[in-house]
Amino acid sequence: RKTPNSFTKDEIELLRKIAGQAALVIDRITQYQHHRELSMTDELTGIFNRRYFNQRYDREMQRAQRYERPLSVIMIDIDHFKTFNDNHGHLMGDRVLKSVASLLERSIRKSDILARFGGEEFVIILPEIDKGHGRKAAEKLRRAVERAEFPREETQPLGKLTISLGLASFPEDSSRAPDLLERADRALYLAKTLGRNQVAVAQPINGDGSKARHPPAVATAK
Ligand code: GH3
Ligand code: MG
Ligand code: MG
Repeated sequence: RKTPNSFTKDEIELLRKIAGQAALVIDRITQYQHHRELSMTDELTGIFNRRYFNQRYDREMQRAQRYERPLSVIMIDIDHFKTFNDNHGHLMGDRVLKSVASLLERSIRKSDILARFGGEEFVIILPEIDKGHGRKAAEKLRRAVERAEFPREETQPLGKLTISLGLASFPEDSSRAPDLLERADRALYLAKTLGRNQVAVAQPINGDGSKARHPPAVATAK
């Protein structure tokens, strides 16, 4: 109302009640959003957690299959991280873990989804990215961590803090979400056995469904 002091006492009382109710609802929505955010983020690193990854990965795989689009997934594990903790303590380890997470986050594209898979392991979903480009993306991440400086990293077995990465891509490596992830994990394991600080790529399965004659994964040159 344009005229000053034109509300009656009853009207003011009514509006006050409505405002109170509205405030309650707004408060509840804010809390709900806060909870939702908490339930999908990892407390230590602030990136997505495993729970969110699982949901999102299924969705992205369904999308890739439906529209016949490529999708890559990268599994990452910090090399000799137990050694780092043993030498410098868990708190220092936590700090480095956070730094690695934020470096990875800064090194991927907006459309990629980075999550903490567990412990010192990360996973990245790269929608629309085929194997060739996925390999380049993984190599870029490997180099970023190798080049970055971390406190006290010089005591690591390789002389610096590094990561190993395993890559698997839809459709060539598997069309089933859990299986594709398993293949990325196996490739990561190969990267570890071949000396760490490297990217290993899952080997495609032959068209007839039988395994290729080659080993299950191949490592790229450093
Ligand atoms: P590898 O190169 O084979 O991966 O060696 P690794 O020592 O990293 O592997 P391993 O799986 O033996 O140890 C992983 C270690 O990561 C164990 C634990 O000390 C450390 N770790 C896992 N989660 C956390 C965490 O949240 N904070 C800290 N500080 N350390 C963690
Ligand atoms: Mg590990
Ligand atoms: Mg490790």
